Amino acid sequence: MSDARKLLNDCFLHDKDRLRHDEAIAIILDQINAIAGTEIVSLEDASGRYLAKAVKSPRDVPLTDNAAVDGYAYRHEDFEAAGGWFEVVDRIAAGHTRQADVPKNAAVRIFTGATVPDGLDTVAMQEDCEPHVQDGLPFVAIPPGLKAGANRRKAGEDVLEGTTMLMPGERIRPQELAAIASLGIAEVSVFKKLRVALLATGDELQRPDSQNNLKPGQVYDSNSAMLKGLLETLPVTITNFGILKDDAELVESTLSQAAAEHDLILTSGGASRGEEDHIITSLDKLGKRHMWQLAIKPGRPMCLGQIDDCAFVGLPGNPVAAFVCFLLYVRPILLRMHGATYQEPVRYSVNATFSIANKKPDRREFLRGILGQDGNGGLTVSKFERDGSGLITGLREADGLIEIDEAATSLQAGTPVSFIPFSQFGLLRH
Ligand code: AMP
Ligand code: MG
Repeated sequence: MSDARKLLNDCFLHDKDRLRHDEAIAIILDQINAIAGTEIVSLEDASGRYLAKAVKSPRDVPLTDNAAVDGYAYRHEDFEAAGGWFEVVDRIAAGHTRQADVPKNAAVRIFTGATVPDGLDTVAMQEDCEPHVQDGLPFVAIPPGLKAGANRRKAGEDVLEGTTMLMPGERIRPQELAAIASLGIAEVSVFKKLRVALLATGDELQRPDSQNNLKPGQVYDSNSAMLKGLLETLPVTITNFGILKDDAELVESTLSQAAAEHDLILTSGGASRGEEDHIITSLDKLGKRHMWQLAIKPGRPMCLGQIDDCAFVGLPGNPVAAFVCFLLYVRPILLRMHGATYQEPVRYSVNATFSIANKKPDRREFLRGILGQDGNGGLTVSKFERDGSGLITGLREADGLIEIDEAATSLQAGTPVSFIPFSQFGLLRH
């Protein structure tokens, strides 16, 4: 096992009952190593991947000065002497150039994107110009008042040759695809996708299937579909192990098998200390537990550990808790393991429409927040009315998470509260 594969610096085992949110994030960012290898992919396959090597510009973009509009290019300093009256000595379409010098007091007909000939510096829009024929020759009247350099794009004005345009760890979005393509680069070095094993645990869980009717006490497994969707926002390949019964031996053998072939195992359910919860005991047998029990709501029993070289995250079974813990912790864990640059989600200060009395101190709470407007067009956030950690409806209605920090014990309606839009976690709006 090479050092590069070493997943976690495991000297940070904590002895606190409950880890605070900030402490958990600090451990994830400081202690989890980037383990993904690199590969070269074509630009066509690079969308959503993370760069492993910087991208430097081998040339100026654009390559030459060119016209920003259809019109007439001329030398600005000729304008007065020519009285705005120029002979049109050439016609240059996009993709074409003129080699010969343009004589004094002459202009060229030019089209958007065409190279502006040497010596000319200004382009008048065709809508403002009047072409004429005089003595059988084409002339154009150019209007006064244009600034030198108007409607001309400068060579290198987007990117200069030699500039490091993109850094390792950056996500390749559509904007980056355009930027890389504009440099003439067809292949990039990216981090290899992480291999994630996904499994749900619980005797009550049934596979969603119209032929599969529920008996009392049973629920359909909704976490697997939800977590798969969340994982698909990240650079991973997923093996779905489906549903495991609450059976210690089965859980243990499946985790052991999954650990051999994956970079991360993600489970939901069975992570508490109940007699039917076998995730923690199996992890303790097979590997190490790095953190367990967070001072947050929802999601207190979320657990991070490791089986050999494979990271392990045990999420709570309640769908809301599993969802919130994925966004808050699994996402940074995977980004960190991948070698991606991690940015703390941006928090916005938005006025709350609701009050809270008697919040427990010493834990951070994340509520489902729904954006709205007050009478003056200002932004407000309300919370999903019902509190249950099993209510998927609240996840669908919400625009993001309201974050109430540890110190707070109450909140007054009309005062600002911290709001994190789901887009900060890579999710699109409804
Ligand atoms: P657990 O964490 O196993 O104690 O489960 C907590 C709650 O979440 C229980 O009500 C479970 O039925 C529910 N739950 C656990 N796993 C899932 C799942 N995959 N899909 C939907 N609900 C689940
Ligand atoms: Mg369970």
